[in-house]
Amino acid sequence: MLFWDIFGNQTQIIISIGVLAVLCFAAIKVKDLKIGKGLGLLFWSLLIIVLTSLMQTYVGFLYEYAVSAKVIALAEMLLVLAGTMLAIMASSYILMNEPLNSSVLAGFVSVGLCLILYAIFVADNAYLVADMRQILPVIGMSYVFLSLVSKSKIWKYPAEMVAAFAVAGLILLMLWPMFFTQKYPWFVPVDLLLLLAFSYFLFVWEDVKSKLVNLRETYRRLNRNIGVIIKSSPFPIIIARLSDDALLMVNQNALKLFGISEDEVARYHFKDFFVDADNRKLLIDRIEKNCEVHDFEILVKTAAGNTPFWLLASVNVIDYNNDVVLYAAFQDITTRKRREAMLQSQADRDPLTSVFNRRYFETKAAEKIAKAHENKEDFAILMIDADNFKKVNDTFGHKIGDKVLIELASVCERSLRQDDLVARYGGEEFVVFLSKVTPQIAKLVADRLRQAIAQVVVYADDGKPVNFTVSIGVAPSGISDNVNVMIKMADDAMYAAKQNGRNRVEEFLPNMNSGLQNPQDDAERLMHPAFAKEENEEISLLDGIESNYMIED
Ligand code: GH3
Ligand code: MG
Ligand code: MG
Repeated sequence: MLFWDIFGNQTQIIISIGVLAVLCFAAIKVKDLKIGKGLGLLFWSLLIIVLTSLMQTYVGFLYEYAVSAKVIALAEMLLVLAGTMLAIMASSYILMNEPLNSSVLAGFVSVGLCLILYAIFVADNAYLVADMRQILPVIGMSYVFLSLVSKSKIWKYPAEMVAAFAVAGLILLMLWPMFFTQKYPWFVPVDLLLLLAFSYFLFVWEDVKSKLVNLRETYRRLNRNIGVIIKSSPFPIIIARLSDDALLMVNQNALKLFGISEDEVARYHFKDFFVDADNRKLLIDRIEKNCEVHDFEILVKTAAGNTPFWLLASVNVIDYNNDVVLYAAFQDITTRKRREAMLQSQADRDPLTSVFNRRYFETKAAEKIAKAHENKEDFAILMIDADNFKKVNDTFGHKIGDKVLIELASVCERSLRQDDLVARYGGEEFVVFLSKVTPQIAKLVADRLRQAIAQVVVYADDGKPVNFTVSIGVAPSGISDNVNVMIKMADDAMYAAKQNGRNRVEEFLPNMNSGLQNPQDDAERLMHPAFAKEENEEISLLDGIESNYMIED
């Protein structure tokens, strides 16, 4: 039974026409133009195959005129082959969105031709020739079926799925007589399978190849896009080859930042802009470990080597034009860095007097003590406390009190050396670290400071002069290397100075330990008997003005 024999059956004719109609409908309905084109080709392919089957009806008639039956068979087979090729071209459109590669087409045609020539002239087997009418279209249809199924991605594109089922139906229609109604030599199904395998191999190969071509094109397009994005970025961006650090691309903002022109890019390496080699090494180490680094601060310089400036860099390792490169985007953070430094210095300073604060003093003095210890140098800590300061406040007001504190701090800073450290320790208490001083010198320096402070005059709002004095305690080195112990010693000495009449300097003596648990604790201090002597008029240089301005407590 031949293909056409099936069509002889009324039901099967209806089915075949139905399939053609469905394909025609799918070809029109499919949204993807290329797939539509594929389905169109498929329609023509089926038409040829059907026409060929029709031709068989007239075989007897043709045989009367033809030179030989073999020539007729050959013509018929060539038409079937053409129909098959059209089907395969159709599936190429469906699967890969492009026409079938010519070499693949040539491969198909030659395999098909060999098969036909073998069947007609070598095997000279009428059954086999009859089989060819089935085999070739089945190959083409299988190919189309596979491509439709792989394109349809499970019901995502209904029109393709409809076409796939139509084609599958057609295949079954063709296979039916081959396997169930006719006896075939054993090699017919083997031929069929081999051809199917071969066509499937070509099918996959073409797919892989076209994907590769697409990938390469996508890659090129991506690189082009990266270039465009980098060029138009508001941030300075550079691309440097990882292997030799050469600059491959520098956008306009980065050119401006690093002070180079477009033509000079090739002459520079990324490392040329680093101020500090260690900074660069750290960056490279991090990149090698993680392939990307964010918020990395680098100190850079321009090509001309101007003032260094800070950049915040985000660096990634990426593929670019077949190179492994560093992609670095920058942000100029010089202003931020400056502000940070300013804030840091603010955090270390006392807002009223601008000298260092207690926290800073304790840290810094500890460092200085360690260094002095290492260099076997003497040092000293002074504790300075304004005498009867409460009365200054009470008499002239808090504002003048503040003014006195500002002046006091400023005299300390002015009178001492660069190497010394002045800090506001508490309300009206200041601490001083004196570097490289023997106990005798420390005492002299303290006394000089006391005198200098006593000379200072601050004017009240009404123009009246306000004088003030301080009591100073000296803690010389040699007893302890602990900054807190040293401060406590200075405080004890200062307490002795208060007791001994104020406006004077006392050096710490071992028997001075006043037993104050925490000299910094103001509440405790105020409760101490020494401070109950507030009313003691004999002890301050303020006395002169106090008689005029003091309001009795
Ligand atoms: P002594 O001679 O014993 O040290 O007496 P004093 O009055 O200086 O000591 P006391 O500790 O009793 O008083 C310290 C005063 O300093 C109390 C507080 O109001 C004042 N004071 C602390 N900090 C400030 C400040 O920032 N500004 C002003 N104007 N006064 C302050
Ligand atoms: Mg005090
Ligand atoms: Mg005081």
